[in-house]
Amino acid sequence: MKLIIHRGTKEIGGSCIELTSGSSKILLDFGMPLVDSERNPFNSDIVKKASLEHLVTDGILANLQGFYKGTEPQYEAVLLSHPHQDHYGLLTFVNPQIPIYLSPGCKELIEVSHFFGQTDCSLVNYKVIKMWDKFDIGSFSITPYLVDHSGFDSVAYLIRKHIQIGDWREGAQRILPKLLKEWGPNALCKEDGNEIKNGYIHLSGALPIFARSEKFLKWFKEKNPEFIHANNF
Ligand SMILES: [Zn+2]
Repeated sequence: MKLIIHRGTKEIGGSCIELTSGSSKILLDFGMPLVDSERNPFNSDIVKKASLEHLVTDGILANLQGFYKGTEPQYEAVLLSHPHQDHYGLLTFVNPQIPIYLSPGCKELIEVSHFFGQTDCSLVNYKVIKMWDKFDIGSFSITPYLVDHSGFDSVAYLIRKHIQIGDWREGAQRILPKLLKEWGPNALCKEDGNEIKNGYIHLSGALPIFARSEKFLKWFKEKNPEFIHANNF
């Protein structure tokens, strides 16, 4: 999983974090800056007047290929943490084909703020998440947690990489061709003797299941298996 923090490390607000896993790409928050490059209060009128190209050149909008209106979308979603403008205030530039994931309270507050003319951000394409209910976006497995913040219905997302290795069939799992190439046609798992034959892992014995990631990491270090055929980490 690759993480790029486009903004928000040296300032409060303006959060914009990109996560990539395989061919899946998502963005966490897309906030309006609170300060400009001189550390003075950010003048949000600039965003209303300047063109998209100008805002990218000036570094107010991150340079994201396939994220903005008028381009072929390369992102699968934007996940919002909470309804403060320094976390969602630039949404108006996002390609409406890219869905915005947000909590019910976040949706209500963004809509009310727009209704009363506080922001230009109206929600077009969105998905309302349910707190603590896991969902998948591409290669990501995401669990939203309710957290305490002055923004109502704020979310912390637990994001895991979802590793797709193939299809299940009774007693065996078919391996994706690219992994088969990497592992070899007759790879053997040191741990329990599961082997790959004719493109399938034969499930003669199961790898242990871990409820806690620390236990999995400890086991992994000790056993050093040749491959793992779990679907989800
Ligand atoms: Zn906030």
